[in-house]
Formats: sequence, structure tokens, C-alpha cells
Amino acid sequence: MSLEKLINTALESGVSDAAVISAQDIKVQDELAALCTDSRCENYGLSAGCPPFVSGPSGFRKIQKKFNHALVIKIDVPLEILMANQVYEIMKIVHEIAAYVESSAVKMGYTRSKAFAGGSCKKIFCHEYRDCCVISKKDRCRNPESARASMSGFGINVAEMLKTAGWSGTSIVKDGETSTDSMSWVAGMVLVG
Ligand code: SF4
Repeated sequence: MSLEKLINTALESGVSDAAVISAQDIKVQDELAALCTDSRCENYGLSAGCPPFVSGPSGFRKIQKKFNHALVIKIDVPLEILMANQVYEIMKIVHEIAAYVESSAVKMGYTRSKAFAGGSCKKIFCHEYRDCCVISKKDRCRNPESARASMSGFGINVAEMLKTAGWSGTSIVKDGETSTDSMSWVAGMVLVG
């Protein structure tokens, strides 16, 4: 019942779709997390939500074992927007909704709930600042109520996760984004427990 309520919370917040899957069905792959370093992602090392400042696949697997459910969310995006700077506005909304669902879950008694979202919070929230104040140790996060860690730094196979949620026919482009011929998705996920 409360999981249904969380799905409704996400839908009412503006996502295109939301679904609950087993947390154990989320596939985590070391080689996906390695893309952050091996492909020299422009966001590598720039925020507390990206490698090397997150616990990576091994850390996620440890957390994953402690959860039964994950709520997956996506916002459908036309491909031309995915390729344009406007995508950061959509990613911002996904981070905000994932964080909101997390806080709603906590209020319902799922006090360990933890949200993740596609894209670097430095690029999305703090592009006007030189530093992430968490990794520079100057202050706490500027956006604790909306910015969440990037899924790719943990090696989460987002395309597979979306298929598990029942949204098939996609191929991954990069962190949290998937595409068909003309439509793409930006995604987030909340471990609920
Ligand atoms: S301060 Fe900005 S870059 Fe650093 S973790 Fe928070 S949102 Fe991300």
C-alpha cells in the first residue's frame, strides 16, 4: 500500500512513469563504473556525487543487500533535447523528484531510503561555482534537498533497470539516459527501506 503511495507521489510530482522493482534485480557492473574513469568523463572528480568520491559498485552491492524494494522513475525526453543543454533542466527535475520521493518514503517510515539520479550534480546544480564545497571541505552540500549521487558511479546498469521496470526497447546513451529513435529518458531510483 505505501509503495503504491510512493508511486503516486512520483507520478504526481511530474515523472512520466514510476514502478517498484526488487532492489536485488538492479544489475551492477564494475565495467560501467569504470567508464567514469576510463572514458575520462568530464565530471569525474568534480563532485561528492561522482567517482572517486562515491563507494562505487562494491559499495552499492553492500547497500543493495539491505533493501527489498527500489522505486524507479523516468521522464520521457525527445532525443533532440537529450542532445541539447536543456537536458540539464530535465535532469535537475529528476534529481529533485528522486530526493522528494526519498523524503516521502522516510516520512512513511522507510527511514533508510536512499535516492540516486542520472547525471553529475556539479553540472546540474553547481555549474556556476568553481568547486563542489563538499570535496573542497569548505561547507556542506549546497543542495542537500535535491542533489543526489549519480547512478553511473556505482556501475548501475540503468538500461537494464528500466527494462526490469517494464519499459523496454531502449539502449543506453550515458548515465541515467536511454534512447529510442526519437525519444529518450532521464531516470532516477530510490532504494526504499
Ligand atoms: S555542493 Fe554541488 S557539486 Fe557538491 S555535492 Fe552538492 S550539489 Fe553536488
